[in-house]
Parts: sequence; structure tokens; C-alpha cells
Amino acid sequence: MEFRDLKQQYQVLKGEIDQAMLTTAAHGSYILGPQVGQLEESLAAYVGVKYCMGCGSGTDALTMVLMQWGIGPGDAVFVPDFTFYATAGVVCREGATPVLVDVDPDTFNMDPERLEQSIRRVLAEGRLKPRLVIAVDLFGLPADYARIMPIASRYGLQVLEDGAQGFGGSVNGRRACSFGDAAITSFFPAKPLGSYGDGGAVFTNDPLLHAGVRSVRAHGRGADRNDHVGTGLNSRLDTLQAAILQVKFKAFQEYELERVNQVADAYARQLPAVVKVPQIPAGYRSSWAQYTIQLPDRALRDRLIDDLARRQIPAKVYYTKPLHLQTALLAAACPYADELQQASRLSATVLSLPMHPYLSEQDLERVALAVGASLDQCD
Ligand SMILES: *Cc1c(COP(=O)(O)O)cnc(C)c1O
Repeated sequence: MEFRDLKQQYQVLKGEIDQAMLTTAAHGSYILGPQVGQLEESLAAYVGVKYCMGCGSGTDALTMVLMQWGIGPGDAVFVPDFTFYATAGVVCREGATPVLVDVDPDTFNMDPERLEQSIRRVLAEGRLKPRLVIAVDLFGLPADYARIMPIASRYGLQVLEDGAQGFGGSVNGRRACSFGDAAITSFFPAKPLGSYGDGGAVFTNDPLLHAGVRSVRAHGRGADRNDHVGTGLNSRLDTLQAAILQVKFKAFQEYELERVNQVADAYARQLPAVVKVPQIPAGYRSSWAQYTIQLPDRALRDRLIDDLARRQIPAKVYYTKPLHLQTALLAAACPYADELQQASRLSATVLSLPMHPYLSEQDLERVALAVGASLDQCD
């Protein structure tokens, strides 16, 4: 059993993926070839925004938006404490200060009430200028934009949706990567829509931002291709990755997203009651980047990891360290570390189980039984 079975996905899609790769090799437009533009258009249409730009990674996508919005020294950027490090790392790289916000223990996502408290505190201290909220769609579930957006606008902040794990999720039919003033996703192989290497995308309805990130993607190029008007990166989505993604995106829409939701429902039915299964608020849909359960305490969680490993069932902890314990962020977070209790508790009690569209009924049952057996021993 695999945690996320990309090799089996390849076996299922092999004919079309091989064809896509060979076609790209033969046509020779390896950089920004026709498949990149086609993919950008179909992703924008699916998500429901005007513009999509492919790039080298989710991290670069975040960075390019921050560069375009002029986020830098003296700026406060509000980031959830429980996420992958990149969400805050990109803020530090621009010289701005990440302000860590605790999360909701039911959804794992940024707690809007805590966000407002943090904005007020930063304003009261007067040292940093609140500029931006980066809300993360953790484990595939969109953040609470209905509450985050009005708070941000009340204080004049922009919102960037980090949809690296969120692509395919939705809220009342509105799809992830369409929230905020801009959104990003990642095509890292294990993400909900993954390629065979690094890749990412920026989504927005703002023509100026779209033009801006396209310039940054190509070294800061101007309207005259030989003139450079700003500082940029070299961060393109390879034609080869785009061609592979076109095939995978079709499967994603036709059955993969449906299938991971069936797996999640089956887990919720079969796992023992002592396990807290992911809570999906009414109207929300997850794309299940991870299926993350909560155990009553660290000791039970850690024993469950050992018991599953003994039965060759892969399970992983996302994330063992909240951002406020990351060495690079200790200084930014330390005055408020005691306010970040949910993220701390989650890092001690969560466990992500095997989750992917090709997980068989038998494997799913084996996981649920093994979890039950491990937790039974403690009665
Ligand atoms: C994976 C991830 C990123 C970074 O994406 P890459 O494509 O790996 O650079 C950013 N934010 C979150 C929440 C992620 O999970």
C-alpha cells in the first residue's frame, strides 16, 4: 500500500501520458510551448477566474505575487501557524514579517477571530504595517473566506489564497484558487493535481497583476521583449509538465476528485469513534490533499504510528512542528507563542492516513481495522 500511489496512477493513464510526453519531445517547443497556454486557459476556466499563469513551483507563485504587490521590510503578513513552511518562508525572503495566526481545530485552517486579534495587535504596537493575509487551504479544504475577506477589507489588507493543497476544493460551488485578490497552486507530484516534477500557477481576475507576474516570470521583461523593466525570476512551467498535467487534469475532473471524496466518506464510516475524523463544514468540499485524523493525545498517536508501520501501512505526520517552532521563525513568533495553542496541540495529535484516488476498498478497510486494533489495546 502506498501513501499516495502515483505509480499506479501512471499505469492507469500510461497510454495518454506517454503520448503527451512523446508529442512534446517531437514538437520541440520545450519552453512555453502550446500546452502551457492551453493548460492555463483550461485551469482558469475550471477555477472560475479570468487569468492563470503557470510557473516553476508553488513557492515561486507565492513569491511572484508578493513581489508584484511590493511586500517588503516593515510589512506584516498574516499566515496560519499550521501549514507547510513555504507559506511563511516566502514572506521572510521578501524581507517582510510573517505574523502567525492560530488555527481552528475542526478545519485546521486559519481562525478568523484570531486573525482579527492579530491585526489589531500589530496596529496597536505600530511597529509593522499590516499588508496581507495568506490564507491556506490546508489538506484540501478551502479556508473560511466568507469571514476572512470582510476582516481583511475592514483593515485594508489584501488576501492571497495559498491553494497549493486546495486545488479542486470548493465552497458552495465556488472553486478553490478563485478566492482572495489572487491565488496560487502547486503541481508538486503529491499535491491533488500533481505533475512529474515541480510546477505551480498564479490565478487572478486582476489584469495588472497577471501582466505583472508574467513579467516577473521572465526576468522582469517589458512589453518590448528585449527590454527589462524590473527584477524577476526565471520560473516557467515546462511544456513537458503542462502536457502531462493536461492528461491528469482530465482524470482529475472525470473521476479522481469524486473518488477521493468516496474514500474520505468510507474512512469516516469505518474508523473507530475515538478518532476525530476531518470535519467538512456545510457547503464545503475538500480535494483531500491529506486525510488527517486527530488522536486524543500524543502517546496514542505515536503508538498508532508504530502499530501501522509494523503492519506496513504508511502514515505521516503533517506537521510535526508548527511554524512558530521553526528555527527561522522563532524570533518573529516568540512573544506570542502561548497564543498558538491549537497548532501546537495538533502537531502532537494529528496523523495523515493513505489517501489517493486509486486506494482499493480492501486497503481502506485494512487501514481502518489496523487503526481500530491499535486503539483498542489502550482500553
Ligand atoms: C506544497 C506547498 C507549497 C509550495 O509548493 P511547491 O510547489 O512545493 O513550491 C506552498 N504552500 C503549501 C501550503 C504547500 O503545501
